Amino acid sequence: MLLPISRRDFFKLAGAAAVGTLLSDRIKPSRAQAASGSTIRYADRDVPLLFDADVCVCGGGPAGAAAAINAAKNGAATVLIEKGIALGGLAVLGDVIPCMQTFAPDSDTPYVKIIKQQLLDHGIDYDDKVTGQVWTNPETLSLIYDELCADAGVDILYNATLVDALVDGDRITTVIVQTIEGLAAVRSKVFVDATGDAYLARAVGVPSERGYEKTGNNQPMSFRFEMGGIDLPKLYKYVAVKLKEDWCKSKLPHFEIAEAMHRTQRYKLEELMARGVESGEITQEEAEYMQAYTIIGKDGTMSMNCPEIPIKFRSTDPIEYSKAVTYGRRMIRDISKYLIKHLPGFEHAYIAREAVMLGARESWRILGKYYLVEDDYHNQSRFPDAVARTAWFIDAHGEKISEKLPRGGFYEIPYRSLVSDRIGNLIVAGRCISASFILQASMRIQLTCMSIGEAAGIASAYSIKNGVAVNEVQWERVPNRSYVSQPK
Ligand SMILES: Cc1cc2nc3c(=O)[nH]c(=O)nc-3n(C[C@H](O)[C@H](O)[C@H](O)COP(=O)(O)OP(=O)(O)OC[C@H]3O[C@@H](n4cnc5c(N)ncnc54)[C@H](O)[C@@H]3O)c2cc1C
Repeated sequence: MLLPISRRDFFKLAGAAAVGTLLSDRIKPSRAQAASGSTIRYADRDVPLLFDADVCVCGGGPAGAAAAINAAKNGAATVLIEKGIALGGLAVLGDVIPCMQTFAPDSDTPYVKIIKQQLLDHGIDYDDKVTGQVWTNPETLSLIYDELCADAGVDILYNATLVDALVDGDRITTVIVQTIEGLAAVRSKVFVDATGDAYLARAVGVPSERGYEKTGNNQPMSFRFEMGGIDLPKLYKYVAVKLKEDWCKSKLPHFEIAEAMHRTQRYKLEELMARGVESGEITQEEAEYMQAYTIIGKDGTMSMNCPEIPIKFRSTDPIEYSKAVTYGRRMIRDISKYLIKHLPGFEHAYIAREAVMLGARESWRILGKYYLVEDDYHNQSRFPDAVARTAWFIDAHGEKISEKLPRGGFYEIPYRSLVSDRIGNLIVAGRCISASFILQASMRIQLTCMSIGEAAGIASAYSIKNGVAVNEVQWERVPNRSYVSQPK
């Protein structure tokens, strides 16, 4: 079933958007679809078998999309299971904009470069030329992912929630998904868990942990939303010129406003929010954290990186998670009402969109072959099997821990933190890899998750071609690896 696509061909296909190829023309016949009428036995019933794949990726966020595209690009018949109806995960469904910079020199892996080029090809000027942040647009990003999947030949199964998995010894054979038709099955040789919540890994008994070992808390969640109708030049004049806020060094159309009362850094908008607490128009919780970014291609619209929902609502508790939605929606109304009334530029603003996925910064993380810890950050650890490098700061909301590396410093993420001893054909990619709570607070940013996913995809295809279990792959021996370790 392995049909290798050369690197040159893939880049050629990736550029097809620029010349306006219709997406319908780009969708290839499925390589993974199971024979019609095939079933498997699950919970005493016959369940339709939808796909019989080489690689099955569960979760289509920055990590999962990268894994699927790179597995397919390297010749594997690949299925991507996503419970929403858009790829991009938090970046699209959670409205998380922009991609933060890694602060590590030359950290862009080939796939990250493709995504950046695709943004440009689709008219999104992602580069503010100052901060290194990648300013995206959610609707463009989801289109790019659809197109890249079509070009690489990935079968996407949308509106499909992974619910269970069947295991034979130390191998997953099949995953069970909930679809519009009912339960269905996907069989595969290799599985990638990119659910963000290590859902598949936990379902098959890979050990995991959640929250901060010292407090038991998860990082707080946020319920992001967009506000439209903003007079951006007026807002810029007020915040950047009148208040002289220099937090965001970039200029319109790439512009950010922010305040975070718990930080030692004092923000110029803090006073405005504090006045709201005094007047009773907003609560202390609502005033605590407020941040907004322009969205390139949506003039007058900002993505609001707030409200930050109180830490008592845990991302790992289904009932508290649900309560957080209701609580957060109320906070959205209060904050937006207050900004419309008091922040120059927001006079005619309105809520344009609520995220369709709550913003969980951290939930569960696997305990894999290598467990990354805070010392790896401070020691700037290097690994022969490194798949990515980053220096994004340790940004543990809730615990109010924030630590930075010296300029130019970085640490690497080893392939061994993506795999476990327990399951031979499972790779975990994205924010739920094997890392401590504190270390995860640094590695969780989107560009790093993309590079991790890219490596997971390449390693999956490599393991099949070479008949080696993914948890035995020696990344440093993979000839077309996307990242090569750089010694100190
Ligand atoms: C509020 C907030 C602000 C942030 N700000 C930034 C920022 O400014 N810049 C930045 O770079 N990063 C930021 N991050 C971090 C970054 O967005 C995430 O860490 C990153 O998106 C993680 O990528 P991922 O692919 O591991 O998981 P996710 O983005 O969480 O994607 C997981 C995907 O899996 C799917 N899924 C989950 N379970 C199942 C299932 N059972 N079946 C099928 N599909 C499933 C989900 O629908 C989703 O599409 C922020 C995060 C949050 C929460």
